[in-house]
Amino acid sequence: MTALSVAVLSVWVGVTLLAWAYGLGLLAALTTLQAGAMAAGAWLAFGARRPGRTGPYDAIAAGILLASAALYVVPSAIVGHNASGSVGVGVGLVIGALLHRSAGRRLDQSMLGALCLHAISAGLVLGVVYTGMPSLGLSLGVAIVAHKLPAGYALARALRDHGRSTMPVALPACAVGLTSLPIAMAAGPLLIPHGLLFGLAGGLFVAVGAAFFVHLPWQRRARAATLGRVGVGALVVAGLDIALKLHG
Ligand SMILES: [Zn+2]
Repeated sequence: MTALSVAVLSVWVGVTLLAWAYGLGLLAALTTLQAGAMAAGAWLAFGARRPGRTGPYDAIAAGILLASAALYVVPSAIVGHNASGSVGVGVGLVIGALLHRSAGRRLDQSMLGALCLHAISAGLVLGVVYTGMPSLGLSLGVAIVAHKLPAGYALARALRDHGRSTMPVALPACAVGLTSLPIAMAAGPLLIPHGLLFGLAGGLFVAVGAAFFVHLPWQRRARAATLGRVGVGALVVAGLDIALKLHG
């Protein structure tokens, strides 16, 4: 998996530089920000407790994951897409749940699979939709970082808990750029409805957040602390969102 991750990372660097030279600086910046936020999240996971034990930051990360899914990821799939977006969210949830079931107790495998599919489906539409995007605004940047950072953290934690290297975080981190940039360079149309793909990405992301949430320490003694920390994480995202809305 590490060799694959290094290979994907190298191809990603090449594709990103090519897209930049091609005049797609904005989309390249956006996909680089996504990858950077995931990598930063994975890096933060090193400061958390030792593998195999859930630390206090895990519950906070779960709160951030679920709140940013509710405030940013799912709305972006539904607004402006009507039925296809809603159908996509449902399908994404089912696929996420199936991945979780088939992976048994291997949270790292189901999260890696779901996050890769999330990134690929979102990247497919981004390549088409964001070609003519005016600017990478503050609110879009916050929306990206708020969901990629906790996702990178949660995935890295799950990988470490199973004694694996955190290198595979590079796979979903690079997947957005590796799908969207070639599509934007080819400037071809997408035959699949955009809403369906965005919805799929949203539903899968909710499933990832839910799986991580379920694996938190919920034993009687830890329950109150876990709930409180999830609440802190959710409030961080909500507060940030409110501050942005009041500002702009
Ligand atoms: Zn995403």
